[in-house]
Amino acid sequence: MDFTDSPEEAAFRSEVRDFILREAPRPKPGESGQEALVSGWAANQEWFKKLGAKGWIAPAWPKEYGGASMTTVQQFIFNEEMALQKAPRPLHMIIGLGMAGPTLIVHGTDEQKQKFLPGMLKGEDIWCQGYSEPGAGSDLASLQTRAVRDGDDYVINGQKIWTTLAHMAKYMILLTRTDPDAPKHRGITYFILDMKSPGVEVRPLYNLGNSHEFNEVFFDNVRIPKENVIGEENRGWYAAVTTLDFERSSIGSATGMKQHVEELVEYATAHEAEPTSTLRTNPMLRYELADRMVEVEVARMLSYRVASMQARGLIPNYEASSLKLFSTELNQRIARTAIHILGQYGQLRGDDAPTKGRWAATYLRSQAYTIEGGTSEIQRNIIAQRGLGLPRD
Ligand SMILES: Cc1cc2nc3c(=O)[nH]c(=O)nc-3n(C[C@H](O)[C@H](O)[C@H](O)COP(=O)(O)OP(=O)(O)OC[C@H]3O[C@@H](n4cnc5c(N)ncnc54)[C@H](O)[C@@H]3O)c2cc1C
Repeated sequence: MDFTDSPEEAAFRSEVRDFILREAPRPKPGESGQEALVSGWAANQEWFKKLGAKGWIAPAWPKEYGGASMTTVQQFIFNEEMALQKAPRPLHMIIGLGMAGPTLIVHGTDEQKQKFLPGMLKGEDIWCQGYSEPGAGSDLASLQTRAVRDGDDYVINGQKIWTTLAHMAKYMILLTRTDPDAPKHRGITYFILDMKSPGVEVRPLYNLGNSHEFNEVFFDNVRIPKENVIGEENRGWYAAVTTLDFERSSIGSATGMKQHVEELVEYATAHEAEPTSTLRTNPMLRYELADRMVEVEVARMLSYRVASMQARGLIPNYEASSLKLFSTELNQRIARTAIHILGQYGQLRGDDAPTKGRWAATYLRSQAYTIEGGTSEIQRNIIAQRGLGLPRD
């Protein structure tokens, strides 16, 4: 199989690379692209505006809506170059750009598109996703937050949980139950909620690494105007599913993982002469690093498979689950290998720790990768049933 770029693809790759090298804020030595994002907030806002001006902040969106209409292969190249050059990604905007925007493009009215899309494209508005509830995660369609029509508004009561960035978001995409008597997938309505609406209460939840990333959100008689329904009443499930078709963000992650393993090899080699070197005290670490590098190549092949299906107009199903499952579990294994290489230092966090404590933080955060976006068990169920043709359990 030939993975080399065609002449057009090579030209596109150079255009992307030149742009990133010219315009993107550079991470400091040893810093990842996302760490640079946090440490250089103002510079990054400028960078996102520049990406927005080219339509590259929303590579998959159609040009008429301010995106770049990139083909799947172009998105692949774009994501790969962003990862290779460690360019900061607008991840805090991913729910707006990757989910709410695409859903509006497909199901929204003209007024909704005019009102909500520009703020996403300028890199200004942060959105959050109000899907999961305490009793509805993997089985999302059993959600219970109620919306009841009252004149020109709907009145919302209930609770969401694990709502990433709700404390910073201007808007939420919100799934509610409007018909409790209908079969569970058919009684759901999809709204846009202004987070400043009276009756919305956001309470912080702290993750394993003690970071405030997600929240609980409570709704006490919150009013949403009927103009903020996306699609039709009781047909929100179909809009919620459409959203997922636009997501291509995992494509560049194999490149990022490869860089992490390379960084670990560099770190282990640079410290090999020291008496505390784990590479000396534990020769098996060489094998562990070798395994991680092989696995990164497997992840790359799985992501090529998904991208090549998308490029042929096919919708990856258990293939996408295989990629999600393998990559997120690999991310955890890479973080574990990093902790083994750093030895006792691997547990330290803060600026004075080796690599500024990055691997301790990554290790803790990586535990969530196999939960968010569908747990590993759910991915295995999909692979077993749809990929292997096994019966439901
Ligand atoms: C970091 C992070 C960020 C998140 N951000 C958001 C967000 O912004 N918005 C949002 O709406 N949600 C968000 N979530 C929630 C996420 O979507 C859910 O946590 C996830 O879907 C799992 O649901 P649950 O937590 O209710 O677990 P449950 O569904 O209750 O699952 C509990 C356990 O049972 C297993 N299980 C469940 N069903 C089956 C089955 N049929 N077969 C085998 N095993 C099963 C699961 O794999 C899991 O191990 C986030 C989660 C995390 C960790």
